[in-house]
Amino acid sequence: MSVTVAATPPGLDARTLRRDFPALSQKVHGRQLVYLDNAASSQTPRPVIDALVRYYEHDRSNVHRGVHELSQRATDKYESARIRLQRFLNASQPEEIVWTKGATESINLVASSWGRTHVGAGDDVIVSAMEHHSNIVPWQILCQDRGANLRVIPMNEAGELQLDRLDGLLSPRARIVAVTQVSNALGTVNPVREIAARAHAAGAVCLVDGAQAAPHMPVDVQDLGCDFFALSGHKMCGPTGIGALFARRALLEEMPPYQSGGDMISSVSFEKTEYNELPYKFEAGTPMIAGAIGMGAAVDYLQSIGMDRIASYESELLLYAVERLDAIQGLRPIGTARSRAGVVSFEIESIHPADLGTILDRQGIALRVGHHCAEPVMRFYGVSATTRASLAFYNTRADFDALADAIEIAKEIFA
Ligand code: PMP
Repeated sequence: MSVTVAATPPGLDARTLRRDFPALSQKVHGRQLVYLDNAASSQTPRPVIDALVRYYEHDRSNVHRGVHELSQRATDKYESARIRLQRFLNASQPEEIVWTKGATESINLVASSWGRTHVGAGDDVIVSAMEHHSNIVPWQILCQDRGANLRVIPMNEAGELQLDRLDGLLSPRARIVAVTQVSNALGTVNPVREIAARAHAAGAVCLVDGAQAAPHMPVDVQDLGCDFFALSGHKMCGPTGIGALFARRALLEEMPPYQSGGDMISSVSFEKTEYNELPYKFEAGTPMIAGAIGMGAAVDYLQSIGMDRIASYESELLLYAVERLDAIQGLRPIGTARSRAGVVSFEIESIHPADLGTILDRQGIALRVGHHCAEPVMRFYGVSATTRASLAFYNTRADFDALADAIEIAKEIFA
């Protein structure tokens, strides 16, 4: 295991932490990699890689089924990872954490299981104007199936939700408000605590898409007061193919299964099936065992640094990034909310984002160009795509200096 805890001085030493991430030290096209695509997927630190290797080399077997030593070990690690994630999110019990393959599956689980039993003809499902497609499409499909209406909290030009419009949307027919805590396209941080309180006051429940929040700030689901919270492991130093849904126990108790088969049952006959206890009722089939174990290691790793320290380091770095990029002539920022995290999105006059992305890649800079699975946001700003640089705690000011210099080179090429 890495000894990041002891090695990290007060404040956050990104240069030391970078050494925990083997992928960051490589060269790309002969240039030192500058990795600014963290909103798509973060890099993996050594302790997470080690936990995966250890499982595959030592404990590899199925969970919850075997009495043999390897299966016991795998089960212990799988369940211990759940407890660590429960504490990371400050959920009140491990049964409130369901392993999924990512935020997308977590939201689909809620739309399909909770939605099927709580949303009927004429009901309203409320999302926001800045949602990722994975927090739009599952609700759209649900609304089509049930004859319900999808309502949208609008946003202003800065990319901030117009919450004065929320009460108007929260009619007695409102069943759920599903909103992102941090926009992956704009970086806007939404006041989800307030949104959850207002949803509850109107008799609705609240789902928070935490995919872009959990990697960047402390999350306390009890303090947020949300009913559901979705996250993806691969955006927070964990393996790919693993994520989680937090859901309040009372809701999980009464929700029907999402998928069915092995492990989610306590008894099966051709006449009748009894479902397993929580959270296994929602974990049909062999789960992503290695992924969950790796996720436990990722949570330990993040906590060894401290989410408070990560948040304050990153917000200072984001300020620097914004300042550095705003100074570039011909750069139009997309999303200028007062409260932002993790992301700077922009376009450069007369350079198509796809061309810019290619030129930046040749200079070793990895970032994302496209619609970021948020086409309604692109439409709002009248663009088909943006260039998005997204940071993690292992990025430094030098990464944004390199980005700014590379953009100037691109501008010369296209001049
Ligand atoms: N919501 C947000 C805000 C996201 O940024 C993403 C990933 N880009 C998702 C949901 C979906 O996450 P995943 O692809 O890991 O399921």
